[in-house]
Amino acid sequence: MTITTAPTASSTATARAVLDAAFPTGLGAFVSGRIVPGGGETITLTAAATGEAFASYADPGAEGADALLQSATAGAAAWGRLNGFERAAILRNVSRAVEQHTEELAILESATTGKPIRDARAEAAKVAEMFGYYSGWADKLTGQTIPVPGNWHTYTERVPWGVVVAITPWNAPLFTAGWNSAAPLAAGNAVIIKPSEFTPASSVRLAQIAYEAGLPAGVFNVAAGLGQTVGAALTTDPRVGKVSFIGSVPTGRRVAVAAAQAGIPALLELGGKSANIVFADADLDRAADGAISAIFSGAGQSCVAGSRLLVQRSVHAEFVEMVAAKAALLRVGDPLDTETEVGPIITARQFATVTGLIDAGLDDGGRRLTGADLPEALRGSALRGGHWVMPTLLDGVTAENRLETTEVFGPVVGADAFDTEAEAVARANNTSFGLAGAVWTSDVSRAHHVAREVKAGTFWINAYKTIHVAVPFGGFGDSGHGRSSGPGVLDEYTQAKAVWVPTRAADSPFPSLSY
Ligand code: NAD
Repeated sequence: MTITTAPTASSTATARAVLDAAFPTGLGAFVSGRIVPGGGETITLTAAATGEAFASYADPGAEGADALLQSATAGAAAWGRLNGFERAAILRNVSRAVEQHTEELAILESATTGKPIRDARAEAAKVAEMFGYYSGWADKLTGQTIPVPGNWHTYTERVPWGVVVAITPWNAPLFTAGWNSAAPLAAGNAVIIKPSEFTPASSVRLAQIAYEAGLPAGVFNVAAGLGQTVGAALTTDPRVGKVSFIGSVPTGRRVAVAAAQAGIPALLELGGKSANIVFADADLDRAADGAISAIFSGAGQSCVAGSRLLVQRSVHAEFVEMVAAKAALLRVGDPLDTETEVGPIITARQFATVTGLIDAGLDDGGRRLTGADLPEALRGSALRGGHWVMPTLLDGVTAENRLETTEVFGPVVGADAFDTEAEAVARANNTSFGLAGAVWTSDVSRAHHVAREVKAGTFWINAYKTIHVAVPFGGFGDSGHGRSSGPGVLDEYTQAKAVWVPTRAADSPFPSLSY
């Protein structure tokens, strides 16, 4: 790609130019080390910042899935022939290559998705870190030697599934492509990333960079295309060992059922409706900054977004005013401007969902404290047609309000007051989700007690949103199951094989058992 410095303004033309620079022969699937144009339905990409179409590409369809699976099956065999030290060396090179391409990947991500460039830069750097972290594990996957009765030497080895298919959403395409490929690759699998049809570009470019850094052809493939065609074909094919899915609850369930019927296990990372609990004894200024970051970074298009703000009654009025005042100062605008903190909603469909849910929250009794009008700078610019939603805080969002339990996936937080710790915990758990949450307090015992009581895969005390690839991440309930990071994920992407050897054959009779 030839772009080395950030374009200065988001526009439909900029998005088109950035995409053309990355893929001079056009966008397509990444199969066996090259871009392969699809033969199916045309998919139009729309610039979130302008609302205008800027490019299109063709869906690979079910036929394209076959080529991807052939590629990945051959890739898995080639990758499996390397030992852990060889895989580690190549993944270290991938990490370095991603680091060298951080700025390019960030510009591509920002221009094609509308994600603020400052966030895109941080996420691209995180992807390099993911490959670095898991490269360190590739040569450390050990089994166990297990004592058993009798004269046996019994041990286990970790065996990769072969082909892992990872379905990813549109809110963090590059980040989730890295998160869901580095670990399975380190464990010895080949991967096929199926990015959202709305945001495929950075995943394809990541796979290209990994290939150029020495990953053998077929080990990292990208199925740029539709969920119901190539996605469905990939999650039900017997050549697939395991599926990981990141996305919405209904689609995740559909994918998991279809995969299960084909005998394929699925790891699910779904949505959330996380509670951010603020006690009166908290550092309120820091808690307000945390509440802002929890819901408005990424324009709320974040699975762990702190979309419910529960504030102890004695400081409730003061605190929500603080948050509203800080929200009103957030810089909303051009994603490619390094000052921008909040970008547009990435897809038109999601924009309609978010605005509809704000109306529902108001209908159900919420009072808007901030978030109505677009700034003049947006209204009067080429960006006026974009999918903009101003950071929105509704107060008085009670347990009966639809915003209590419905994931918005946009910059919308519902606040309410509570009196006791037990009440706060009950409200936090008043959802079928269980992804994340936080508590703000200076009482250390209460902090740990609340952390224990709230149903969440990730919980922060006096903090919000920090995650790291070294730490397990995943949900309870409707937020999914399985953990997609940390050392434990290497067990998700391998299976144990047990090997039995009699050390004194004469003393090791053949048992008459039937299982
Ligand atoms: P989505 O469920 O609409 O789509 C996710 C992916 O599934 C896309 O790539 C889509 O093409 C694919 N898909 C659709 N139908 C399919 C099918 N039949 N077979 C195979 N694949 C299919 O989700 P989205 O709207 O892209 O993302 C938003 C959701 O993702 C939110 O609910 C959010 O909370 C969740 N999310 C969760 C996490 C997490 O780690 N828990 C992270 C990011 C986003």
